[in-house]
Amino acid sequence: MNLRRYLPIAALFCAVAFASAAQIDDATKQLSRDIFRQLIEINTTDSTGSTTVAAEAMAKRLTDAGFPENDVQVLGPNARKKNLVARLHGTGGRRPILLIGHLDVVEAKREDWSTDPFQFIERDGYFYGRGTQDMKDADAIMVITLIRFRQEGYRPDRDIILALTADEEGGKSNGVDWLLQDHRDLIDAEYVLNPDGGGVYTQAGKAVMMSVDASEKIYADYQLEVKNPGGHSSLPVPDNAIYHLTDALARLERYRFPFELNEVTRTYFQRMAEVESGQTAADMRALAKNPPNRAAIARLSTDALFNAEMRTTCVATRLDAGHANNALPQTARAIVNCRILPGHTSEEVRRNIVQILADPSIAVRYVSDAGDISDTAPTERPSPAVTLRPDLMNALEKVSREMWPGAPVIPTMATGASDGVFTDGAGMPTYGVSGVAIDFNDVRAHGRDERVRVQSFYDGLEFYHRLLRTLTSPQ
Ligand SMILES: [Zn+2]
Repeated sequence: MNLRRYLPIAALFCAVAFASAAQIDDATKQLSRDIFRQLIEINTTDSTGSTTVAAEAMAKRLTDAGFPENDVQVLGPNARKKNLVARLHGTGGRRPILLIGHLDVVEAKREDWSTDPFQFIERDGYFYGRGTQDMKDADAIMVITLIRFRQEGYRPDRDIILALTADEEGGKSNGVDWLLQDHRDLIDAEYVLNPDGGGVYTQAGKAVMMSVDASEKIYADYQLEVKNPGGHSSLPVPDNAIYHLTDALARLERYRFPFELNEVTRTYFQRMAEVESGQTAADMRALAKNPPNRAAIARLSTDALFNAEMRTTCVATRLDAGHANNALPQTARAIVNCRILPGHTSEEVRRNIVQILADPSIAVRYVSDAGDISDTAPTERPSPAVTLRPDLMNALEKVSREMWPGAPVIPTMATGASDGVFTDGAGMPTYGVSGVAIDFNDVRAHGRDERVRVQSFYDGLEFYHRLLRTLTSPQ
């Protein structure tokens, strides 16, 4: 889940604009709404839902629109977690572009919501339902865009591949990972667009910025463990497992990983300086200087998001120690969760933690996604920092200017993880790109009463149509 994050912009008063009205004919509008509704009303939760049903429904939409059966496949490692892969053939002038979107949604309980989360409801200018923000809106948009291209007889200069997949939010059958392992040929591409990240941010319906996720931090968990012979708590001794651990965690709390920018985060701060104002804007400009201004770094580091954009972070997330109220602890354990800058390895950070804790009685081990614990962490670099492709950035800026004039395009390194971590890791640079606008204060992904503005959905549809045409027309 690459939850659209709240961007803490305190003082936004830059020029803002409404989207120029999307030019979508009534038939396309109706079809789009029908496909969006169909997706919302198919339960795709890990517990009781099925992405297979959704994948098959979208496959039928595509073949009904004239896609050859050979170019539309539904496949997966188990019956309930299948994925859709479809291909619109181009002239083959360049390597394909891959579009990815997850079909699964986070659990939603009827009693928590004002309406049935698996019923598509239009009310007060919004579409409501689980997945309206994350990310069946974009799944529908990508399917419809392929159908429109087909109807228009459009021949791109490269293949456009669409993969709608299982288990991004959880579950053991991640579709992107599985496709890369078992069917790489089906989805191999020069680069990837993933509308699970990025998007247009609005205030009171007016566009403020278009955020584009480029590169993701790497997720890593570490287990800290102290063993001790223990003893009777009436006779305490200085060598105490809990105090060893808590003293060391206090050192970790005070430690800050080194400041480091890459192409994406440097551009992020430069462009955010135009959106922000006052001291914050001045500090963002000072970051780019060589050497960077230390006071500026310190001030910006007090903001959780800015801090996460400029360094690796590690934080204690769990603690577990002792076995009886009247005994000295024999074991004390903590879990530390790190989000690592691209270009660094999990093992490198494990060794950093050992140094920061500065206590040889503490074993620092790596915990894999599957929960396996090992003495060392992976040493391969999962993904290099993604670069900002000029062809993509130019196309984004052009289409964004047409639709949301005055709202800058701002690249962002995602601090959470999405399926892009797999495609980035497979050497296909991945960009979180979406034209669906959401208000800063209306981010409801994973939450109750998830919704998207009706107009935002159609604007997002028009955006993908224009963007993909720009990216796949001969230069
Ligand atoms: Zn998502």
